[in-house]
Amino acid sequence: MRQTTKSETAFIKSKEVFPGGVNSPVRAFGSVGGTPLFIDHAKGAHIYDVDGNEYVDYVLSWGPMILGHAQEQVLKKVMETAQKGTSFGAPSPLETELATWVKKRVPSIETMRMVNSGTEATMSAIRLARGYTKREKFIKFNGCYHGHSDSFLVNAGSGVATFELEDSPGVPKELIKATLSLDYNDLEAVEEAFKRYPEEIAAVIIEPIAGNMGLIPAEPEFLKGISRLTKEYGALFIFDEVMTGFRCDYDSAQGLYDIDPDLTTLGKVVGGGLPAAVFGGKKKYMDHIAPVGAVYQAGTLSGNPLAMAAGIATLEQLTKKDYEEMNQKVMRLTSGIKESAEKHGLPIQVSARGTMWGFFFNESPVVDFKTSKNSDQHFFGHFHKEMLNQGVYLSPSQFETNFMSTAHSDEDIEKTIQAFNTTFDVLAK
Ligand code: PLP
Repeated sequence: MRQTTKSETAFIKSKEVFPGGVNSPVRAFGSVGGTPLFIDHAKGAHIYDVDGNEYVDYVLSWGPMILGHAQEQVLKKVMETAQKGTSFGAPSPLETELATWVKKRVPSIETMRMVNSGTEATMSAIRLARGYTKREKFIKFNGCYHGHSDSFLVNAGSGVATFELEDSPGVPKELIKATLSLDYNDLEAVEEAFKRYPEEIAAVIIEPIAGNMGLIPAEPEFLKGISRLTKEYGALFIFDEVMTGFRCDYDSAQGLYDIDPDLTTLGKVVGGGLPAAVFGGKKKYMDHIAPVGAVYQAGTLSGNPLAMAAGIATLEQLTKKDYEEMNQKVMRLTSGIKESAEKHGLPIQVSARGTMWGFFFNESPVVDFKTSKNSDQHFFGHFHKEMLNQGVYLSPSQFETNFMSTAHSDEDIEKTIQAFNTTFDVLAK
């Protein structure tokens, strides 16, 4: 039996100093129950808790660790950089070097700004869209998560969905009114909103492959339709690629779908496991950001040298072949999971895009937040706990995605399929 006493003790202590014992809500294991794993260390595709249990890790720090944990080249570059100082509050060539990688891989980004988190990136992108268009409303989609800034906390996914909050107290009503939250994959709803407010909508922001209500890729026609409508009505199209950027595919989601957005946000992989994120896009919009333009945005630690170093070391190692190989691993894993669930007579919907993968305990196809919420969350809680007993660490909520890294081996994949089998056996009893 798996020992968890040290994690339990650590949780009691952390609850004395942090609300719910954590520094980000989903970490509390609220929807799966039990004690969150307190982590001691991680290496490659494996993570180790303070009780000494080892798990194959598919959370990967919620996406960033695409090369696996404590990857040698990333560590080397970060440690070499740290010897030269950890923050200057002044420009350094590392920022330009990372930006050059970003431009190479995401050509729609002509100029950009480095920030510290995905939340800052999306918040700043919306401010820019509002400042540029002089309009206040914007469209987002139910179940998409764009970080925790005020304007986005309306029918949001991720932890907001896990804890069943429709919106958050503390967000001014005026801001909620300015946020039009529509159903994902429903182009007619977008068209209607533009017809109703033809000169009031500053932007449409979307997760092109939604990963915060479980994994739900957008229909290509949906994205193409939004691109057309934003042009027609003079609004900006913002691709929130904080999760999908450098992750779902070598060319990110905009490459996969062949869309040229006005603005893009990046996070997670771009910081290689340290706090870095980006918002950027067409120069004609980005030139409205201070100090060139009047839309204000700033940050003490923005472009932090350690985060830049980790991002550069990550991006310079990733090849197209790596993405193909990760995708093959995802395909092998998800078909093994599907087969195992079907053998046990369990309803399952499996989804995968590139290196992102997920599943819903659901009889019907999942295309939006409503259908995602119909999944059996109670069963998911039991399932998650048993998977931990089997040595596999999955995202602790039905509304989150799992990830693959270059470090996952064939044995890890086999072990994971076997763990699904055993877990379904245990739960079927
Ligand atoms: N946008 C998307 C699509 C995300 O998935 C997330 C976080 O999961 C964010 C924005 C917010 O990023 P951060 O948690 O770095 O603030």
